Amino acid sequence: MSNTDFALAVEDLTVSFDGFKAIDNLTLYIDKNELRVIIGPNGAGKTTLLDLICGKTKASGGSIKFKNEELTKLDEHIRVRRGIGRKFQTPSIYENLSVFQNLEVSYPTGRSVFGALGFKCTDEVKARVQVVAEEIGLADTLEKEAGLLSHGQKQWLEIGMLLMQDPELLMLDEPIAGMSARERELTAELLKRICKNRSVIVIEHDMEFVKQIAHKVTVMHQGKILAEGSMATVQADPKVIDVYLGH
Ligand code: ADP
Ligand code: MG
Repeated sequence: MSNTDFALAVEDLTVSFDGFKAIDNLTLYIDKNELRVIIGPNGAGKTTLLDLICGKTKASGGSIKFKNEELTKLDEHIRVRRGIGRKFQTPSIYENLSVFQNLEVSYPTGRSVFGALGFKCTDEVKARVQVVAEEIGLADTLEKEAGLLSHGQKQWLEIGMLLMQDPELLMLDEPIAGMSARERELTAELLKRICKNRSVIVIEHDMEFVKQIAHKVTVMHQGKILAEGSMATVQADPKVIDVYLGH
């Protein structure tokens, strides 16, 4: 496979903070419609990698290509328009708006033919809200105030807000932290559904969850890739057991 066939090609990526290399010459390829899970000990550089891909942090060196276009020089909001969605660890929903309104305000302006005139085509937006609400399991909760949702539902709503933009790459940092067992199961199903139409990168610690969702697992350590492959392969890797799974 040539490098141009990947959704995302990260090559020789490095970022230094005062001389400390949080990401150290890292190379990683993600396929279209792949669900990749990144694991590794605290401080390995997992969150920093997502920061670099979405543009929150600027790389010191190396390349990040998305659908074969170089991203490293593009601003964060341009990367969003190119189809990159990023969910942070703490949900950022509008607590006093309804679920419907949260999704509605996340519909990208300028995508609709009416966008240029300064208003949205309501039917188009409503239809999209409905599709996304069903996808995230909140179709029966559209009128509810977002602040009244359970912790898990808030996380799904934020994923829905990102899905409103129909991203081709969605990145989620520890999405099931604080969720109940049932909510974790539903999140696994949700992620398996949404990667049918896009690539997804998930950072996660819960190995049972990782096993359920991962197509492939990347293990990071000290800003580098320690191991990569199927869940079974990385779980059996002595290096991985030594720095991460053994603890
Ligand atoms: P992980 O998500 O794998 O736990 P992080 O990516 O958050 O790890 O952090 C990797 C390392 O980079 C840590 O040592 C952290 O302290 C450092 N780091 C992350 N962001 C910054 C920053 N903006 N300035 C300085 N150091 C940072
Ligand atoms: Mg982190």
